[in-house]
Amino acid sequence: MRNAYIANQKSAHGRKALAVLPIHYPKELLTALDILAVELWGPPGPPRGPDAGRVQTYVCSIVRNALAFMAAGGADAADGVLFPHTCDSIQGLATVAPDMGGWTKPAFTFQHPKGSSRPSARTFVAAELRSLAEELAAFAGRSLEPERLWAALRLHREIDRLRAELLDGRTRLPMTDPELYRLLRRGEFLWPEEHLAELRTARDALGDDAAQSGVPVMITGYVPEPLSLLEALNDAGAYVCGDDYAAVGRRVQRALLGTAGDPLAELSRQYFLASPCSTRSADQSARLRYLTDLFDRSGARGVIVHVLKFCEPELFDIPAIRRTFAARKVPVLVVEGELEPEISGQLVTRLEAFVELLGQTRRAA
Ligand code: SF4
Repeated sequence: MRNAYIANQKSAHGRKALAVLPIHYPKELLTALDILAVELWGPPGPPRGPDAGRVQTYVCSIVRNALAFMAAGGADAADGVLFPHTCDSIQGLATVAPDMGGWTKPAFTFQHPKGSSRPSARTFVAAELRSLAEELAAFAGRSLEPERLWAALRLHREIDRLRAELLDGRTRLPMTDPELYRLLRRGEFLWPEEHLAELRTARDALGDDAAQSGVPVMITGYVPEPLSLLEALNDAGAYVCGDDYAAVGRRVQRALLGTAGDPLAELSRQYFLASPCSTRSADQSARLRYLTDLFDRSGARGVIVHVLKFCEPELFDIPAIRRTFAARKVPVLVVEGELEPEISGQLVTRLEAFVELLGQTRRAA
């Protein structure tokens, strides 16, 4: 975990740190309560201890690695952990980690409903947010002040606005894909104001002219791990011009923020305005409309679907993604990973062949 950074946040600012499992959670609440969120996407690589064996081998590597990591003391720098209601596997982890995985610090859950915005779902989310706010306020040892929550909402929407600017202006941004994704993913652990400053610096590098000359591709998937996949893509002569990674572009909130009233109600309203995500059981046709719109806007020539093995929510949508883009004669490459430290030589070859195909498509167009 980011132990040195967490220690500094504690000593310099007196902040508590919360390890957070993927994906969607009300980070604004944590910021308003002066709690540092440190997201736990695995971590990548082989499990860091024997406790991965406490769950079935057909559970995804995010959950297996997180369990092993927590049980081995890897997350001990955090003062607690938050399990969002992402999928059955994370729900299971929320039980297994404290019961059998040796996790003894506070554990919180955020149960968001699946499906579209309907009165019952809105009522449920509002109640969940209030309940979590109370629990986190007790954890942080401070009360939730509405003005601080409004400030956190504004701060996070500003971060989203800059992230959207960088992703949408990708072609004019003089960075490699690994450089851009490293920057965007620093938001998973940095204090938000520090991340905002870094994003502003990157935004200032956006030019008027194209800074990328490779073959533009769109990626949809879970988490950009390992980063060598993007390095291989760049080396093959392509770059990511449209991003729908659950860890990255899909989490960028593009809806306008309200300006008055109860900030918790606004947080709840924003929840239903987020981009479609398989883990929130988004209406599949809405998700496909979103993806085809992103594809058209980005100018991509092909689509890479990068999923994690055994990730049911993401795997469920793949046939529809294939069908939709096949009907538009758009090449699609499906890649399945397991948070391995490096991609295989075989995958490098597949990426190279895909980029070559897209290059020919471009010349034929
Ligand atoms: S990778 Fe898929 S199955 Fe695993 S925790 Fe994430 S959403 Fe759940």
